[in-house]
Parts: sequence; C-alpha cells; structure tokens
Amino acid sequence: MPPILPAICGCTRDALASALSELDETCAYRTTQLMEWIWKKRATDFEQMSNLPPALRRELSARYTLRPLTVVNQSQSGVNGARKLLCRLQDDELVEMVLIPAAVGDAGTQSRRLTLCVSSQVGCAFGCKFCASGLHGLKRSLTTGKIIGQIFEAEHVAGQRVDSLVFMGMGEPLANTQNLIPALRLITAPQALGLSPRHVTVSTSGHVPGLKKLADSAIPVRLAVSLHGPTNEVRSRIMPVNRRWSLGELIPALEAWQAVSKHKITLEYILIAGLNDAPQHAQMLASLAQRLRAKINLIPYNPVQGLNWQRPVEAVCRSFCRDLLSRRVPTTLRYEKGADIEAACGQLRLRHLS
Ligand code: SF4
Repeated sequence: MPPILPAICGCTRDALASALSELDETCAYRTTQLMEWIWKKRATDFEQMSNLPPALRRELSARYTLRPLTVVNQSQSGVNGARKLLCRLQDDELVEMVLIPAAVGDAGTQSRRLTLCVSSQVGCAFGCKFCASGLHGLKRSLTTGKIIGQIFEAEHVAGQRVDSLVFMGMGEPLANTQNLIPALRLITAPQALGLSPRHVTVSTSGHVPGLKKLADSAIPVRLAVSLHGPTNEVRSRIMPVNRRWSLGELIPALEAWQAVSKHKITLEYILIAGLNDAPQHAQMLASLAQRLRAKINLIPYNPVQGLNWQRPVEAVCRSFCRDLLSRRVPTTLRYEKGADIEAACGQLRLRHLS
C-alpha cells in the first residue's frame, strides 16, 4: 500500500509557512502561491503548480496529498437530482457525502446553488436506533484535511463550487471537535475556502461538551440538533446519547449556545410511526421549540434495510406539522431529498460493507 500522506488542505497558513521553511523556502510569497493553488485554483496535482520550482513540487508531493479521498461510487436521485457519493480514503475506509441541488422554485426556475452534506467520522459511536451509520460502530474520526478534502472531491465531481455545507453525514461532528473546529476555521476563512458561516450548518445528536467547545470557538456557524423525541423516555428509546446527556442537560446547553451565537437553532425531528408521532408529542415538542425559539424540520422516517421502524402515513405527518404551526412554531415538513438513493446517512456505505 502507498504511504498515507496528510492532506495539505488541512494546513493553516502558518503550518504551510513552516512546512515551506523546512524546505528552505522562507519567503512569504511562496506561502501565498501555495495557498492560491490549494484554495483558489483547487489544484488536484502538485505538478499543476506551475509557478513553484519543480524540486519544491516534488518535495511537497512526497510529503502531502491533494486528494485524501476519491469517489468510488455515485448514485443520483431520479426525484430531485441529489447525488450520493461514496468515497474511499487512503486506508480503504469508506465515507459518504451527498450533493444537493437547489429545489425548483414555484415559478419552475432552479438556481445553481449547491449544498454538500459531509461526514465527520468513519462510522459512528452513538448508535441511534434509526440510523445506518451507527450499525457498525465508530472506526475513527476524520482529520481536518479529510473533512475538507470531501469538499474538493465533490466539487470535482459536480463541476462547480459548493455554496453551502451541512455536517449531517456519517458521524457525530461534535465528538470530533479537535478536527472539526480547525476545519470550520479554514472553511470560513476568506483567504482559504471563504464560505460564509451562515452557509455552514453543524448537526449534533446532543453532544453537550462539544456544544460548549463549538460555542467557545466563536465561529458563527448554524446549528441543527437531532431531537427526534420530546421527552427523555422517547429519546432514550432511539438515541443512546440521551442516557449520557439528557434533555435536562441538553436544553440549557442549547440556550447557552444561542446566547453566544444569536442564531435560530433548527430542531430535526424524524417522524417514526407509533413512537413519536402522536398529538401529545407535537404538544411537548412545541413547548421545547418555544423555549428555545427554535424552528423545526419534520422528516418522515426513511426506512433503512435491517431496521424495523416505519414511516407514518402522510395524513399523520401533515397533521403533526399543522399542530406545530397552529402553536406558532416555524415548521417545515420535508421528505428527505434523495430517499430513492439511500441518502439517509450511512446507507450507501452499509450496502458496500454487507
Ligand atoms: S444519527 Fe448521527 S449521531 Fe446518530 S448514529 Fe447516525 S451518524 Fe451517529
């Protein structure tokens, strides 16, 4: 197997400058040139860096990689064009991402805006009972370079730049804050990827210490919380994380986050037949959302091979949504984009492992 090299896109400007100085390149303009090749020109090979001396290109390619992962399989939804990409890392582990085109507007027009859903870990330790990613446990966390490498690879496949980013793929992002936070800094830095923090959303299952670290980082990204149950009893049935950090800890942590970030939190709520879709669940969910001044995304469950949960019938989903709206809670009911391409996290990888 070829040596596993660190991804150069995970390096800050300071790290690049010190790597260059080890190669006797101490001028600041070399660092600027390298930054431009990585971030602005999206080089995929060091040989493309035509204004760097050939010897330096060779040294860099012996120490770093520009492509820490490659797409090995893709499938496209016939419904809305969402594209699921399965990527192989240098050590043969697999992660997934989903390219999501903008929805067609009421006038039948469609913007070219592109959202990418990325993974933060290989597998997941949190074992939510409705999710394919947790079925085989956690293999490992992704490095900063491999988190960012997904963006470059997806853009390469899409043939266009990504406009928004959501951390809703495999893994619990806040269990990997040591790599996530440096990645968020590079993703939002104008001299690096330069995405607006308003267009970056981190989703968590309720990792309370990670929430605090993200708040302390003061990076003004958006936050989505996988709630999926309005009580500890319901939540603990499907989300083991709730036994570690119950709603009694999670809700104050979210209030603390909100005090720092000022953004509205989104509560994600997968509707599962007979588990969390009754009118009393809607009422309790509304109370939590009102306390947090949060908006709610309702997602009818997308069946996963090997798991027994069922999606409620459409009338139940619509009535649950109406109930929340009648209590003045901003709510959307969305059928998961790309359900026909196994776009719930971890499903495509699971099929390749089985
Ligand atoms: S829903 Fe998220 S936190 Fe839960 S098992 Fe899946 S990837 Fe992990």
